Amino acid sequence: MAQYSGEMFYGYDKPHQFERKNLVTAKTIEEARREVKVIRETDVIVVGGGPGGTAAAVSAARGGAGTILLERYGHLGGMSTGGLVNIIPNLADIYGEQHIGGFCQEVIDRLTARGAASFPDKKYWGKSEAAGKYLNANMAHFYVRKNGEGERVVLYTAVIDPEISKDEMNRMVLESGAELLLHTWVTEPIMDGNTVKGVIVESKSGRQALLGKVVIDCTGDGDLLPKTGCQTTDYMVPGSRIAQFGFVYWVCNVNLDKYDNFAKSEPEKFKEATQQIKDLGGSPFFCRGLLDNHEGVVWVHRLIGSLNQTDTEEMTYIDVSARKQAVLNFELMRKYMPGFEKSFIMLSAPQLGTSGGRRIIGEYFLTGEDMDTDIPFEDTIAVFADNDRGEKSLKYPKTFVPYRALVPKETEGFLVACRAFSADHDFSEYFNLIPHCMCFGQAAGAAAAIAVKDGVSVRKADYSKLKSELIKHGAILP
Ligand SMILES: Cc1cc2nc3c(=O)[nH]c(=O)nc-3n(C[C@H](O)[C@H](O)[C@H](O)COP(=O)(O)OP(=O)(O)OC[C@H]3O[C@@H](n4cnc5c(N)ncnc54)[C@H](O)[C@@H]3O)c2cc1C
Repeated sequence: MAQYSGEMFYGYDKPHQFERKNLVTAKTIEEARREVKVIRETDVIVVGGGPGGTAAAVSAARGGAGTILLERYGHLGGMSTGGLVNIIPNLADIYGEQHIGGFCQEVIDRLTARGAASFPDKKYWGKSEAAGKYLNANMAHFYVRKNGEGERVVLYTAVIDPEISKDEMNRMVLESGAELLLHTWVTEPIMDGNTVKGVIVESKSGRQALLGKVVIDCTGDGDLLPKTGCQTTDYMVPGSRIAQFGFVYWVCNVNLDKYDNFAKSEPEKFKEATQQIKDLGGSPFFCRGLLDNHEGVVWVHRLIGSLNQTDTEEMTYIDVSARKQAVLNFELMRKYMPGFEKSFIMLSAPQLGTSGGRRIIGEYFLTGEDMDTDIPFEDTIAVFADNDRGEKSLKYPKTFVPYRALVPKETEGFLVACRAFSADHDFSEYFNLIPHCMCFGQAAGAAAAIAVKDGVSVRKADYSKLKSELIKHGAILP
């Protein structure tokens, strides 16, 4: 569906059909009124510890705000760790100019120091020399684009080790002075009129409440939006990138030399084996693990079209059917593809991949038209490399995001700093990835801290202070 000027990596899937059990009925019950313990009163509450939330918590705490980060799982990083989508793309444009720095670059630097990140050397960004490695790894989607001369050039994209990342993100949050509460589901906002005053959480410790001056929704899915009274949209084009669930798994102990040798020395037999796997319901496509110590590890991203990525009945169906398909595919590869005989599925992502859905309609609503301009906003909080739109990316290699895209229209005390930011389908299709959400988080956290310090609504956070704070922490702004 999406047009890339590099080779396409994914075939996006149309929304699938399945027989619903129809778990929704017309019947309702009234819950008993109850007292709920307030476990924390603080300045900033960040909900969800994915790329957006981790950045938001670190940024708010560094800005001097009392901050707590709440996460439903036992680790941080969201899709970038627990979703096994450990590829941080589009940090520089097709011409090699870096646009995303700040928190995202800091994570990459810290992981690099621990041998837990890998990316092309700076001298190759926007150049053709290193393209072969990424084409061979089936990673062109993330690493290779055609420039104006039709040459394949390399992008600045990093891969990170999910396990070391989980540890590093814990460290960053705790070093910043923010508190961290894991294994805690946030179920609803606490509202006073149109102002968010805190959140209700459910966990093994029971139902509890936290009160804060600013709440930042970083759940990816915008879980707080329905009860905050914010205007929202969830429109997605069927078959587009964001209209996909992802079931991701890693296979290790693959003898890739043997596989390559077979493909090269017996191309007809290789074709036959590939076709046989496909005919039997498998899908013999994989990416080669690009981390330095991922020799013999391949990454499989299976995409399943969906327009309901927060519907548990649909999520259950996807998890069961995608897992069945993954195991079938793996068994076929082991049987028919030389090199896979001794391999095994090392891990399937604990977190089902969601890529799109509920989004706010904020003070500014980003649309496809905002990608076709060179003019920054007066409140620009991030600049993104625009690498995925073919000719248009060559003409407009960068795209700007205003602070207002994180600020809901009517609701007070509330920001959204994840893929539920204020944008239409077209803008989200290109700019709701891990590095983008880190930028939203960094800006929202800093703005929240500034607003709390100045005693003003977060809607009125002083932009000049925000810009200085972002630049101080490495953001690259016009
Ligand atoms: C198959 C697939 C492949 C992808 N590949 C890439 C890729 O290679 N590179 C890339 O940059 N992007 C990729 N993406 C997109 C990217 O993963 C997401 O857009 C990005 O992770 C969004 O970050 P986020 O912080 O908004 O949300 P998430 O990463 O989803 O993080 C949200 C966090 O909030 C937590 N949370 C959610 N709800 C609650 C709640 N109610 N209470 C408490 N905690 C909660 C979650 O557990 C999670 O930790 C891919 C997506 C999919 C589906």
